[in-house]
Amino acid sequence: AGQGLIVSFGEMLIDFVPTVSGVSLAEAPGFLKAPGGAPANVAIAITRLGGKAAFVGKLGDDEFGHMLAGILKENKVSAEGVNFDKGARTALAFVTLRADGEREFMFYRNPSADMLLKPEELNLNLIKSGKIFHYGSISLIVEPCRSAHMKAMDEAKKAGALLSYDPNLRLPLWPSAEYAKEQILSIWNKADLIKVSDNELEFLTGSSKIDDESAMSLWHPNLKLLLVTLGEKGCRYYAKNFKGSVDGFPVKAVDTTGAGDSFVGSLLVKIVDDLSIIQDEAKLREVLKYACACGAITTTKKGAIPALPNHSDVLEVLKG
Ligand code: ADP
Repeated sequence: AGQGLIVSFGEMLIDFVPTVSGVSLAEAPGFLKAPGGAPANVAIAITRLGGKAAFVGKLGDDEFGHMLAGILKENKVSAEGVNFDKGARTALAFVTLRADGEREFMFYRNPSADMLLKPEELNLNLIKSGKIFHYGSISLIVEPCRSAHMKAMDEAKKAGALLSYDPNLRLPLWPSAEYAKEQILSIWNKADLIKVSDNELEFLTGSSKIDDESAMSLWHPNLKLLLVTLGEKGCRYYAKNFKGSVDGFPVKAVDTTGAGDSFVGSLLVKIVDDLSIIQDEAKLREVLKYACACGAITTTKKGAIPALPNHSDVLEVLKG
């Protein structure tokens, strides 16, 4: 499964993750250098499960940028759409792991290379050859990467790709909450498939209730599938003709970084060769079970990319 190409657009960076939970990076006895960035995590989630993925974005022409390009290569992700910026450095994230396994971030983005991708630098042939174009996270915040994002998205759509959107809200990176909401909702109607977390649903609807009504207030007529992830509780799904939920898999979470990316990547790899799956509830539930297992596994190890499962890891969890 997963022979069609999935193109994932956005940022790739390095997470500095403390070796212990419950303290800030500054107080930790040590740290790991974990490659991450939501769209890059999604691309690697896909290839680790046997699918085909390309990452499109910009890295610094520095030791971190070349380390990240090497990680894409090691993981069999195409880097044909990666540019290197001569001036700016690669983005960095400094992570605090809270005692409950949730994480907090501080970023080096001053500006970082990922923010400097220009529309004319896009590898359009690569982008147009994808069956699915996935995007999200922070490339909408500033120019020129905002224009690059728009162009890539529009070209992919014109070429017939399914558009998959995960806003991956990192509020501290935005100039204001209002601007974040406005920007995220401004591209909402273009997506065919959207995944939000329960926190993002709250943020975007302004309602503290996570229920069908608040989810459906985000529905748009061209949307094929809306997914709301609920952490350990699994996810809710909404399609034109059906809705429901899939339970999470109980695991001992040590670091939830990358769980959502693992969830999305595994979902995409399962649907890329037959996009009609998302309109067939029985088939979709099987896929979402698989995606919840992937998300759960990813929380059991530190970091994002190092924690992404391969197919046999998932089968083991599904067997129970
Ligand atoms: P995000 O990382 O986008 O906030 P979630 O934290 O909701 O997304 O995680 C995505 C998916 O990963 C969930 O739908 C669930 O299936 C799985 N998952 C996340 N956290 C846990 C957990 N603590 N235990 C089991 N599964 C989890």
